[in-house]
Amino acid sequence: MDEMQVRQDIETRYEHLEQRVLENNPNASVLRLRAAFEYADRHHGAQLRKSGEPYITHPIAVAEIVAELDLDLDSIIAALLHDCIEDTDSTHDDIAKQFGTTVANLVEGVTKLTRMQYTSKEEEQMENLRKMFMAMANDVRVILIKLCDRLHNMRTLQFQSERKQKEKSLETMEIYAPIAHRLGMQRLKWELEDLSLQYLDPIGYREVQQELDALTTENSEFLARMQKQIEERLAQEGIQCTVYGRLKHIYSIYRKMYAQSKTIKEIFDIYAFRVIVADVSACYNVLGCIHDMFKPVLGRFKDYISTPKPNGYQSLHTTVIGGEGIPFEVQIRTWEMHQTAEYGVAAHWKYKQGMANSRLGTEKEFEWVRKLLESQQDTDPDEFVRTLKVDMFADEVFVFTPNGDVKSLPAGATPIDFAYSIHSAVGNSMTGARVNGRIVTYDTPLKNGDIVEIITSKTAKGPSRDWMNICKSNEARNKIRQWFKKERREENIATGRAAFEAELKHMGLTMAAITATQDLLDTLLKRVRFNSLDELYAAIGYGGMSAQKAVVRIKEEMTRLGRLERQNAERQALQANLNAGETIFPANAKLQPPPAGRPRHSESGIIVEGLDNCMVKFAKCCTPVPGDPVVGFITRGYGVSIHRADCPNADPARRKPEEAGRWVNVSWVEGETATYRTSLEISAKDRDGLALDVAMALSTQKVKVNNLSARSQPDGYALVSLELSVRDKGELTGVINKLAQISGVFLVKRAGG
Ligand code: MN
Repeated sequence: MDEMQVRQDIETRYEHLEQRVLENNPNASVLRLRAAFEYADRHHGAQLRKSGEPYITHPIAVAEIVAELDLDLDSIIAALLHDCIEDTDSTHDDIAKQFGTTVANLVEGVTKLTRMQYTSKEEEQMENLRKMFMAMANDVRVILIKLCDRLHNMRTLQFQSERKQKEKSLETMEIYAPIAHRLGMQRLKWELEDLSLQYLDPIGYREVQQELDALTTENSEFLARMQKQIEERLAQEGIQCTVYGRLKHIYSIYRKMYAQSKTIKEIFDIYAFRVIVADVSACYNVLGCIHDMFKPVLGRFKDYISTPKPNGYQSLHTTVIGGEGIPFEVQIRTWEMHQTAEYGVAAHWKYKQGMANSRLGTEKEFEWVRKLLESQQDTDPDEFVRTLKVDMFADEVFVFTPNGDVKSLPAGATPIDFAYSIHSAVGNSMTGARVNGRIVTYDTPLKNGDIVEIITSKTAKGPSRDWMNICKSNEARNKIRQWFKKERREENIATGRAAFEAELKHMGLTMAAITATQDLLDTLLKRVRFNSLDELYAAIGYGGMSAQKAVVRIKEEMTRLGRLERQNAERQALQANLNAGETIFPANAKLQPPPAGRPRHSESGIIVEGLDNCMVKFAKCCTPVPGDPVVGFITRGYGVSIHRADCPNADPARRKPEEAGRWVNVSWVEGETATYRTSLEISAKDRDGLALDVAMALSTQKVKVNNLSARSQPDGYALVSLELSVRDKGELTGVINKLAQISGVFLVKRAGG
């Protein structure tokens, strides 16, 4: 082609577009349209596409696809100009001056999406990429124009290198087709998917296509017959309708065959008839007729009219078996539903044409778009779409790492949030940040699509405390706090200690008072959940706990301990009186037991090897008495605990190795006159008067009983538990023998032994 022919060809293409625009909208300003065409043509100049055609043929083709969707003139003009900012010296301001800010903003929006890079191949990144894509466009028309741009590029992909083909196809399959689906634009989605599949799996694509062709040839007569039958029957019923048959698009069959490993004959809905009628009640009438004519397949009927799909799709679906046993699907819908099914959100502009004179508001039909896009309340239907903002993800911002991974951060996030979302080590060694290649301050809010790079250094001083006020995410804040906790321990302890001591003084306490004994200090620290004073100071230092809170709790605990001590003293006095009484057997068999493991001093009758005058208590588990072989265990804070040598808790095999040094030899003091508490268990056949006989036996032995309780067992036996005081093992043996002689008793044993 010579220069003249090329110019002529371009002019023809433009005129075709103009025709198309006038068809939909006879009042469209052809002057504006032509001005846009000439502007784009001039700016792209001699640029060529990979196919060798002049570059301007691409924007014209994209504008034509946009016009086919019946979008408004601004969108069509923006489509003509869509590559000007990206590929020529044209600017937003320049376009705004000549075509208005709406067009300029649309072009700029498309440019932003074009600049987005999709290097990530990670599955979990894809949804983020899709969200980011939609969040970046603040007008739904930007997305629609970009989808049309992509569709034309996919249609002409054969001129690109194989690598580029695969890349673009993958991107289309993962990003563009799902977005088209989300916006309800089935027709666009199908074409995008089929084109992508052609490059991603050319062999699989051809296989499906060939099988489909063979099947269609085989069944073409059958299909024609079915269609005729349906048309005739519906005509008889007086239902006005349009019936047409169609094949499922290749990718959806491909998915069913490969993902669900079905053969093509096992797929029920390869053939589908569409019946399009005037109103909803006709839909249900048609359904009745179809089910009357053919046998419906169970479980295949779906009513998407009463329950539309999330993207607004409405139709009745049913699968029936035709005369030759061949199943086919029937989809029944109104014209409005049909438009929405094919064009989704773009159907709005189509409706506008057809309903210009109708009193029907388009508001209701677009409820789903409103929900889908969470648009602002806008009552005028025209304004509604013009200002349709895609703010589905208003509380999130999506940015790229230099590798092309997408990070989702809270709206208003800063480079600090970004750094910590990568890794705490990145945040902690950050010395600067670049956004889209330019150095920025730490408090710069990130925008959708920004490429953020963090500059780090091994000698970085670490985060500063005001970063916690700048960052927006809890993740960053926690990680910064964590750093102060770990890295600045010494400093934290010092500042924490100062704050703590000041607060103590303020509350009228002294350090000496709370550290009087190690026991007391441990108890107090337990109350604030720390193991040492340093840990407490450190926590106060990095802000994990306030000094005030710590001191308040400690003060409460001191008060509680003081009260407890007074109560204990009273109870001990009471117990001493009780023990002094000569009660042989208490009238009330269930006495309050004395406080467990009450420490006794060296009057206990025990000598602890190597320790003079230490506290001694008798272990509750085995209650030793003089004469029993015994061992001692040095407890933390409660002196030496005395066990019988045969007590399971003192078994050398079960002692913890780290506590080996705590086990000590102990022995009984000869000639001791004190009494010792011990426990016995009696097993007997249950009978009336058993407890009385036990009491009598004890009484004759002149044994002091501290506690006695008898329990009936479900199997006809009884268990009697005794707590008594004896002088030594000899006396205890006498008691045991006496008890064993009671009728029905078959076992008397020492508790815990
Ligand atoms: Mn383009």
